[in-house]
Formats: sequence, structure tokens, C-alpha cells
Amino acid sequence: KCFISDGSEAKYFTVCAALDRNRPLQTWTTFLVERGMEGFSTPRVELKMGQRASHAAELLFEDVFVPESHCLGYEGDGMGNGILMIMAASRGPVGSIATGIARGAFQHFLAWAKSKRNGKRPIEEDRIRMALADMWGMIQENRGLYMSNAMLGDCIFGKALDNPVMNLTLSLPPSLRTNKPMRTFLNSYYGKAMINYILRFYIKDEDMTQLLETASLAKFSCADNAMELCSRALSLMGPEDSEERRWVEKCYRDAKLTQIYEGTNQLNRLVVNNVRFEETLRVEVPRPFKKGVMA
Ligand SMILES: Cc1cc2nc3c(=O)[nH]c(=O)nc-3n(C[C@H](O)[C@H](O)[C@H](O)COP(=O)(O)OP(=O)(O)OC[C@H]3O[C@@H](n4cnc5c(N)ncnc54)[C@H](O)[C@@H]3O)c2cc1C
Repeated sequence: KCFISDGSEAKYFTVCAALDRNRPLQTWTTFLVERGMEGFSTPRVELKMGQRASHAAELLFEDVFVPESHCLGYEGDGMGNGILMIMAASRGPVGSIATGIARGAFQHFLAWAKSKRNGKRPIEEDRIRMALADMWGMIQENRGLYMSNAMLGDCIFGKALDNPVMNLTLSLPPSLRTNKPMRTFLNSYYGKAMINYILRFYIKDEDMTQLLETASLAKFSCADNAMELCSRALSLMGPEDSEERRWVEKCYRDAKLTQIYEGTNQLNRLVVNNVRFEETLRVEVPRPFKKGVMA
């Protein structure tokens, strides 16, 4: 698997895979793979254009044996809690990353616009003033999109994480919470049923589907706005070298990745279409007492 953020540093990896290649959606399952398992390695760290402080590595799986205790949720739960619920929670933050990059570029562009160049300040020209207003508008639009997604996420996950069962579990000392009998129970058929029951009790399919849609919307809109803002700033700054321009160039390189990871922007547009306009995509929170998928 190529391009895994922090893959060269991580100790634990959540891996989704099909148990049966002919029925991938029905048998999609999430596993926990630990560094050190036989056959697992991270042979390559990518040389990236931007976001270079965050490594992306290649993961190599050569006949890695994953024991049953490392199967997260039931077999076949991978599409629900393995992929779509995680994406619903993790795509919105990409929107906020893109917005932070855009804001950085904007601040450097503003500093450039206010500084004297050849006896004149660029901000004295209306085209620069209008560009600044457009850029500020994009940043506000981004904030609205990712914040509304984040608030929806807070409402949905807040209920699942802040309830009597969870609070009781979290109030136990770590030595009790993570001891062997507890781990054995949570990994058992009934333990997994309890977790899925809590998830389904507090999280409704419709809410999770809406979270996925707003996350995808925030992700692609914020990323595209960030790229457009950086690109416009660079065009207006022209080829003349300056410290501000170099910062905006860096922002441009960093922003590009936000269009790619967590599903490319094209794929996220299709998610919005499939949820909202065609209603063909719906997140199903995993059910308790699931039957085996390999029967
Ligand atoms: C630096 C970096 C870090 C990453 N970190 C992680 C990570 O931590 N964990 C993880 O799981 N993944 C990670 N990824 C993977 C990332 O999510 C994928 O690269 C991304 O989703 C695109 O998938 P792909 O590479 O398979 O491209 P493809 O799906 O092959 O897409 C190639 C091109 O085709 C387009 N395309 C594909 N299908 C369609 C369609 N139906 N309609 C229109 N256009 C289409 C895409 O938009 C894209 O432009 C990372 C990637 C990068 C670059």
C-alpha cells in the first residue's frame, strides 16, 4: 500500500481488506497490524512536493499472519466502521488543514501587498484590493464548511462517547480497563456486539450519512479554494523573488496534497452526488450479533 502518512513512524496500523476478492463489499474487514509482525515492513519513504514534515511511506505485506484477536469489529464490518465512519470523521479536518494553508498564503500575500515595491505599494491598485477581498471570502467560506461539519461530528460522536456506559468504562483505572479478561471480552463475539450496540444506539445511519456528505463537501471545497487562492496570489505577485512569495510557493505545494488524500476531490464530489442527489450511498453503522460473512 503506497502513500501512508506516518507509515515509517507508526507502531500500529489499521488495515482494511476483503476476505473474499469476489465479494469485496460484503467481506471488507478491518485489522490491526503491528510493526514487528512477520512479513510486514515499510521499505520506502516518498519524496514529496509539499507537506514534507509529514512522512508518507509504503507498507509492504508479505504473507502477514494477522490473528483473530486483531480483527477490529466483526468480519465484514469494514465498510461501516472501518472506512465510511472513519472517512466521515477524517475528511472534514482535511478541509481545516487546507484552510490553514490558505490563511498562511493570504497573510503573506497581504504583507507583500502592503510592502513598498519600486516606490509603490501593490495594495494601492484596485485589482489587488479586489483579489484580497476574494481571498478573504474564500477563507470565510472554508471556515463555514469545515466548522459546520465539525459541529455535526461533535453532536454525533459526542453522544456515543459521553454516555453512562462509556463514562463508567473510562472511569475504571487503566490497569482494569486494559487487563486480559477485559480485552478478551471486548474481542469476543458478545464484546463486539456490545460495542456495535452502543454505536447503533447513539449514532443513526442518517446522521452518519449526513456527516460523510458534509465532510466530503468541506474537503473538496476547502482544498480547491486553497489551491485557487495560492495560485492567484502567485500570479499577482509575479516572478520577482521575495520572502513573501517563497512562503506562498510553499503554501501552494502544501495545498496540493489536500486535493489528493482522504479520497481525491473527484471522488469526494461523487460522494456528495451519491448521498444527496441520487441517494445511492448510505452509511450503515455496524449491527450487533452479526452472522459470519464467510459462510
Ligand atoms: C502524501 C499522501 C499521504 C497519504 N496518506 C494516506 C494514509 O495515511 N492512509 C491511506 O489509507 N491512504 C493515504 N493516502 C492515499 C490517498 O488517499 C490516495 O492516494 C487517494 O485517495 C487517491 O487514490 P489513488 O492514489 O488510488 O488514485 P486513483 O483512485 O487511482 O486516482 C487517480 C486519478 O483518477 C481520478 N479518478 C479515479 N476514479 C475516478 C472517477 N470515478 N471519476 C473521476 N475521476 C476519478 C482521481 O481523482 C485521480 O485524479 C495518501 C496519499 C498521499 C499522496
